[in-house]
Amino acid sequence: MSRKIIAGNWKMHMTHTDAVSFVKRLQEELAKINTSYEVVVIPPFTSLFPVSTAIDKGILKLGAQNVFYEREGAYTGEISPVMLKALGCDYVIVGHSERRKYFAESDEMIAKKLKAVLIEGMTPILCVGETLEQREKGRHKEVVESQLVSDLAYLSVDEIKRIVIAYEPVWAIGTGHNATPEQAQEMHEFIRNILEEKFAASDVPILYGGSVKPENIRDISAMKDVDGALVGGASIKVESFVGIILNAYQGGELKCIHS
Ligand code: PEP
Repeated sequence: MSRKIIAGNWKMHMTHTDAVSFVKRLQEELAKINTSYEVVVIPPFTSLFPVSTAIDKGILKLGAQNVFYEREGAYTGEISPVMLKALGCDYVIVGHSERRKYFAESDEMIAKKLKAVLIEGMTPILCVGETLEQREKGRHKEVVESQLVSDLAYLSVDEIKRIVIAYEPVWAIGTGHNATPEQAQEMHEFIRNILEEKFAASDVPILYGGSVKPENIRDISAMKDVDGALVGGASIKVESFVGIILNAYQGGELKCIHS
């Protein structure tokens, strides 16, 4: 069985002072509820240190949104995995579609970043997913398989077993149009099969990302191969993020299978 995770990618939102107040309020709310999900907050770099001092690791884990693959050196503007580890980061998002699109991140860079994050003992959350055009042409599986194969190229099987994958169809990110539970299940099952067949790594958690809200998380997270969510917009309001955690499938009954 895979670990269950709900992670909030704040993207470029909140100053460091807003971030600390947010995390304190979030922790107060989470302390009142029981969940089988590990909950992760992923603030911008400027908030990582203040959030790391306010965070209760029994309630929340900490992640970063990006990283560079070198340990140190003349790389102006970049942040290394060593620095993130020293701040107490547990997770690092690698290959988010916004990084691929706006910052020209290639699969080669993503592959190096995954390796660098794992070497420092953190868990990368590798994002993969097709654009609307690719889906409309029926190329979604081919695109995701190619991303996976290229991005995982430098990892050993043992390292692959330590990563988390987020299936994030680009057409669903920030658009309000989430994938249907069946579309998510189909792609998660496809990814799971690749991981199993190529790397014997069928327990890697596979999160869904793309317009997740309190209203749609239940049906998506109840699908057999969905192990949680990577949440963007709805993770920067305490009420909606807590609503997602409360409504997520908690187990105890059979998970939906692909229909
Ligand atoms: C994301 O940024 O990873 C994401 C899924 O965004 P949103 O939930 O806003 O679609």
